[in-house]
Amino acid sequence: MHCPFCSATDTKVIDSRLVADGHQVRRRRQCLDCSERFTTFEVAELVMPRVIKNNGNREPFDEDKLRGGLQRALEKRPVKSDDIERAVNVIKSKLRATGEREVPSEMVGNLVMDALKELDKVAYIRFASVYRSFEDLREFGEAIAKLED
Ligand SMILES: [Zn+2]
Repeated sequence: MHCPFCSATDTKVIDSRLVADGHQVRRRRQCLDCSERFTTFEVAELVMPRVIKNNGNREPFDEDKLRGGLQRALEKRPVKSDDIERAVNVIKSKLRATGEREVPSEMVGNLVMDALKELDKVAYIRFASVYRSFEDLREFGEAIAKLED
């Protein structure tokens, strides 16, 4: 890439290492002309599809909402936060793997059900039928919170 100091077209990589748990590559570069050094970070471009709600509205994929839905479903169940985080990542990967720009909210809901089935059978059985009649994960989570009271 071009040097940000003198705009020379040739810079060389002098160091390269994985950071952020292997999700980023950090590179030290040096300009062959002016010898200035700078750092670049390389990350995968993770474009999430938008979510088509039952009423036809489109909204951006909301990772916090997904995590919140799972957490509430698994409240007071013996499931580790790490496992919930892993489930969030698996669901995101599957959604990205569709290659679609937009996916129905039902698909997200079904992936959540699949994740719950693996994480905790009780939570899955208890809530699978409940989720079906809800519009989205937020309502699902709220219903679960009420059931817990
Ligand atoms: Zn330079």
